Amino acid sequence: MKYSGISVFSDFDGTIINRDLGDEVFKHFAVFEPYNSMLKAGEIKIKEYWQTLCRHLPIDINEEKIKLFALECAEIDSNFKSFVEYCQISGFDFTVVSDGFSVYIDAILKKAGVDVKYYSNKLIFKENSIEPYFPGATESCTCLCASCKRNSVITNCPPDNIIVFIGDGYSDFCAAEHSDIVFAKGNLAAYCNKNRIPHYPFTNFFDVKRILSNAIQNNKIRPRHQAYLKRKEAFETE
Ligand SMILES: [Zn+2]
Repeated sequence: MKYSGISVFSDFDGTIINRDLGDEVFKHFAVFEPYNSMLKAGEIKIKEYWQTLCRHLPIDINEEKIKLFALECAEIDSNFKSFVEYCQISGFDFTVVSDGFSVYIDAILKKAGVDVKYYSNKLIFKENSIEPYFPGATESCTCLCASCKRNSVITNCPPDNIIVFIGDGYSDFCAAEHSDIVFAKGNLAAYCNKNRIPHYPFTNFFDVKRILSNAIQNNKIRPRHQAYLKRKEAFETE
């Protein structure tokens, strides 16, 4: 099967790092419940959820405090850097797609010593408030993301490329549905099983590198027809 290249997209929280920093930052500095349960029960929308959490941040919070907390609180997958290098050597595009916030993603990627593109939400620090900003928000996807990963994936990949997606959570559902090769753990693996989306289970980036390089060597990399149809549909509705 012919394809012109490989574009790899990875989730951040719970995938590149061992926990969900979006949750942890707000648990530590502001509030988390009952809003998270309300979000999961569909009682509030994701944007309203983040806006509410941001309103509970203390007035003296700043980027530096969040970065320090993030660096202390999260562990980076020790195989992540070598996976990114493997992608670079192999000529694959590598992009992080996150529904978390740039303030901590940036700090952690720097600490990991990797220079990669990423798409995420942002926190805007104003004089008397902090507001979340969702550059990838869309009305046309019903996913649980504030910034839709589906759109970040399909608009950042040449049409003839194979899309590889790596993730673990709710915000990864729509991107996985539109990807050819899926690596899934946690809630994303459960979602893939339920919706019959073929996927490779994985624990860390060592597994992803091993499985992906084997699949390439054994000519197992090919477009997934259902994903192709979904991408077509997404382009038509955007
Ligand atoms: Zn979406």
